[in-house]
Amino acid sequence: MTDLLSLDLAAARDALRDGKISSLELTDAYLGAMEAASDLNCYITTTPDKARVMAAAADQRLAQGDALPLDGLPLGIKDLFCTEGILTTAGSHILDGFAPTYESTVTSQLWRDGAVMLGKLNMDEFAMGSANVNSYYGPVESPWKSRDGGNARLVPGGSSGGSASAVSARLALATTGTDTGGSIRQPGSFCGIVGMKPTYGRCSRWGIVAFSSSLDQAGPLTRTVRDAAIMLRSMAGHDPKDSTSANLPAPDFEAALTGDVRGMRIGVPKEYRIDGMPAEIEALWARGIEMMRDAGAEIVDISLPHTKYALPTYYIIAPAEASSNLARYDGVRYGLRVEGETLDDMYAKTRGEGFGAEVKRRVLIGAYVLSAGYYDAYYLKAQRVRALIKRDFDEAFGSVDAILTPTAPSDAFAIGENDDDPIKMYLNDVFTVPSSLAGLPAISVPVGLSGRGLPLGLQLIGKLFDEATVFRAAGVLETAAGFSVRPAGGQ
Ligand code: GLN
Repeated sequence: MTDLLSLDLAAARDALRDGKISSLELTDAYLGAMEAASDLNCYITTTPDKARVMAAAADQRLAQGDALPLDGLPLGIKDLFCTEGILTTAGSHILDGFAPTYESTVTSQLWRDGAVMLGKLNMDEFAMGSANVNSYYGPVESPWKSRDGGNARLVPGGSSGGSASAVSARLALATTGTDTGGSIRQPGSFCGIVGMKPTYGRCSRWGIVAFSSSLDQAGPLTRTVRDAAIMLRSMAGHDPKDSTSANLPAPDFEAALTGDVRGMRIGVPKEYRIDGMPAEIEALWARGIEMMRDAGAEIVDISLPHTKYALPTYYIIAPAEASSNLARYDGVRYGLRVEGETLDDMYAKTRGEGFGAEVKRRVLIGAYVLSAGYYDAYYLKAQRVRALIKRDFDEAFGSVDAILTPTAPSDAFAIGENDDDPIKMYLNDVFTVPSSLAGLPAISVPVGLSGRGLPLGLQLIGKLFDEATVFRAAGVLETAAGFSVRPAGGQ
């Protein structure tokens, strides 16, 4: 059993094709591990019966030699993706009992390619958060333990906390996540795994519960860079049902992993050296730079002058879009309804009980910055600054092929540690938000451990639709870093 769980996605794919293992035994091994580690609270819903039916069908195809690209590989799905006939909560009380009548494009492509669904993963409510402590279904715990923190339960990062913890604890071979301002990359860094946010428009948003529509993007969380490349090929592609989905084929990202970065120009932005950055993050970054240089890349100092405005810009645009997107949860059409004396009273009671504190904060901020008197001062200004941030990247990419930065300004903290200070929580996204605002592809690769023995990742950012270069550079960084530590609380 332990052996089966130790295979990464690429190795499991090959073992299945060679007939060395069956999807049913692999799936059963994961279902067993999920039950044994249910304390981590990674899954909101498990779908063992469905998983076994899908695995048996995959085994039949494999036996006939007609293997699909992801045939028989057991995956976990963030509970923001609509799954037909299966509870989809977005981590919120307001979606109580919501079983969609349709399947999101991204998940339908995973099933088209033969993958097996293990269940739906816990997450911050409506993907708002950096620690997975904002879920109606309770916090997710990371399988990692700090060397000096006694037995403190650590956050996996957020909002794709269930997705990251599950990969790290081996409760899924790989998972889907979504990233609006860092929610794939930051939990990837906290949990010592790979998290890839593709270019905005690379994956269809159709059937993904909307948070901030101009920023939301789906992507994979995996054990290796190769696994992320394999997953993304199935997740990506044009979808006429999403007008912002790019009309481009999904390339063979795995083929980009040549292991060769000789001559590649890697930018190092001086503005990411922020005040109060822990010395160990600075040191990790310096080590990553050395690794890329040793592999033959050319290191170029660059400037992204508007970086310091990214966080405030994001925290105007994201809540503005969220307040509009979340207006649909009114207790009338689906989900929770709390009866009231009048229609207005029913709306107020449903939304009052159905949304958690962070979601309410965002709806209030969003409604405020979009209100007639403040629209120009906040929302419009934020849009202008967003354009400047994007321009910084356009200029930098005139002289470099990819950009290397830390993923997050710290290692994982304890559950409950930053709960009373939203601004401190928002600072987790300081390195991930700029590339989100610019729509660029970016990946977090585990590179080392903090002094407390917790994982730390570095981020590589690429040009629009140039995931291939991001994967190629990330593969080299991954090999050079050789990160192979396993969490104490995993399988
Ligand atoms: N932590 C950020 C937020 O709370 C990003 C979330 C995300 O990427 N979904 O908005």
